[in-house]
Amino acid sequence: MASLLEQLDTQPRVRDFLARAVAQGRTSHAYLFLGAPGFGKLDAAWALAQALLCDHGDDEPPVHGCGACDACIRVARHTHPDVHCYAPESATGYLISQTRELLSDVALAPIRGRGKVYIIESAERMRANTANALLKTLEEPPGGVTFILLGTSSEAILPTIVSRCQCVPFRMIPPAQAAESAQRATGLPIERCRMGVAVAGSPARAVEFLKSPLRQDARRAMVRAIDALPQADEADVLARAKEITIACDAPLADVESAQKAVLEQNADYFTANAKKQLEDRNKRELTARRRSGIMEVLASARSLLRDVLCRLEGVSEDVANADVPEVIDRLAARTAPAGAMRALEAVDRAEAQIRRNVTPQLALEVMLLDIRKALLCL
Ligand SMILES: [Zn+2]
Repeated sequence: MASLLEQLDTQPRVRDFLARAVAQGRTSHAYLFLGAPGFGKLDAAWALAQALLCDHGDDEPPVHGCGACDACIRVARHTHPDVHCYAPESATGYLISQTRELLSDVALAPIRGRGKVYIIESAERMRANTANALLKTLEEPPGGVTFILLGTSSEAILPTIVSRCQCVPFRMIPPAQAAESAQRATGLPIERCRMGVAVAGSPARAVEFLKSPLRQDARRAMVRAIDALPQADEADVLARAKEITIACDAPLADVESAQKAVLEQNADYFTANAKKQLEDRNKRELTARRRSGIMEVLASARSLLRDVLCRLEGVSEDVANADVPEVIDRLAARTAPAGAMRALEAVDRAEAQIRRNVTPQLALEVMLLDIRKALLCL
């Protein structure tokens, strides 16, 4: 199996730069990956984590990210206990309690031994009070600890953070190139890969999505729901919202059992305190996964409605949802460009609500009712 770093073919300069640093044993203890959403920063962060934690790093010569050892597989599945991924937990940004938890975790030894990696998403949403607590650790972390911060641009991030990190700029990935990358990794037809990128956002996430029947079920539930909206009454809409919420939660069962397995397999190494911390983190990870599952179905709604809008405006190339042409046709027949635009705005509002911690089902109900109104040009 190819390593995640090898699969990073949409950012060749970043890939080569990171691969060289790892091979020479000269990685920085703090990176700041910079670029807009969809540029593959998170993919690269997981790839670097895999290269750093590969079980063959002690071999002579060392192997970095073989892609096949136990550690590499765990990183690829996001179940490695020494990789910690943080995202802002409140609508206003990172909580001070998140920073405190991170700092006390940094002080603990790695569970599997080679090192620890902290991925910190949306670094621009770290405000002065949360960032200050982190600065000293960011400058001089304990041995074997690597921080990977992700942000859109260095101007948006506190200068005290930027100055302590090695900045790595990412470039825009054209959607066609992202789809080709996903195709190389999966061997699936290009149309499916285009859909995967439209829904999941980046090539590596598209690959995960295309390998997950449950996540694709959730997307199908959304497509069915929007398809049925023009004929639906209010009760139908609410039932559809519920169906989508359930479909979004289905993949979480796997995450939960993977978390349980990590706890059980490592039970001998844990102090009571470490166990408690891991349990707390698992809970938060589950919340984050639930949210990203909802964001993914919202992205699938957006991509379907964009296809409808393109059809109405006579732009037919690069349809993202080529597997459901009849749905696009039906919806396009029922609405006008202005209706499709308003429907897309309803998706934006739902995303903002999810970010503000509105419950997924409620956000979906409101969104579907708004899309129905918009499509029917009411
Ligand atoms: Zn490995």
